[in-house]
Amino acid sequence: MTILTKPQVAHVEAHLAHAGLPDGLSGELLDHLCCAIEQEIDKGSTFDAALSETLQNWPIRHLQKLHRDVRFTTKTKPMLYRISAAAALLAGIAFLSPLPWPAEADHVKTLPIELATTVNDFLFEPPTASPIAGVDMKNNLSSGFGMRTHPYFKRKVFHKGIDLKAPTGTPVMATADGQVIFAGDDGDYGISVRILHEDGYVTVYHHLHDHTVQKGDQLLLGQTIGAVGSTGLSTGPHLHYEVRKDDVPMDPLALLD
Ligand SMILES: [Zn+2]
Repeated sequence: MTILTKPQVAHVEAHLAHAGLPDGLSGELLDHLCCAIEQEIDKGSTFDAALSETLQNWPIRHLQKLHRDVRFTTKTKPMLYRISAAAALLAGIAFLSPLPWPAEADHVKTLPIELATTVNDFLFEPPTASPIAGVDMKNNLSSGFGMRTHPYFKRKVFHKGIDLKAPTGTPVMATADGQVIFAGDDGDYGISVRILHEDGYVTVYHHLHDHTVQKGDQLLLGQTIGAVGSTGLSTGPHLHYEVRKDDVPMDPLALLD
């Protein structure tokens, strides 16, 4: 697997600065670009060809909007985060996370606190099922939960969920009974579904190809909610899946026996 050299990453950043992003990009966003470029190189492209191909896929205007969003949400974060975000900007280097953490944290605040009556009030089990039928979570991870280190830059980044490999169109299922609290386009997270469960659990499904449920729908464990895709800032078909308990992201694998 290709990892861009520091001069190449600096080249990407300079290119973005030239295109009207003078403050540079957040680490997460720059990393999305670098990962996409690395994948193109893996397929046989030169660095220059991979760069132009990637920028064609991610129009500058879209990046500028994302950049504003990330900067805006960064302002609302605790000092510790702001310091690390500033460090990321100064260093101009990349994270591996497919998800910008600051924007995600804002979504957490908007979750409704009251829980509608769920389909099964008496026998609720925490979400332990795989969100993809026949796909074992442990053996199909392309990216795990928690702190991890970028292989080249040696920087720590927090991944709030797990990424599961699956082809576009593979059905995605609710991992426990619950109620849909979001279904639609979630910007850089692509088409997404969020389900509120009993006991303060919320499950999140990002980068879907489409969704087949609507906000307010009551769901049963195993019910199809949409299909795997690569919408939003994603570098290939996969499911980003999160489990939160009382708004705190937890490792979905930790719920398994
Ligand atoms: Zn992910």
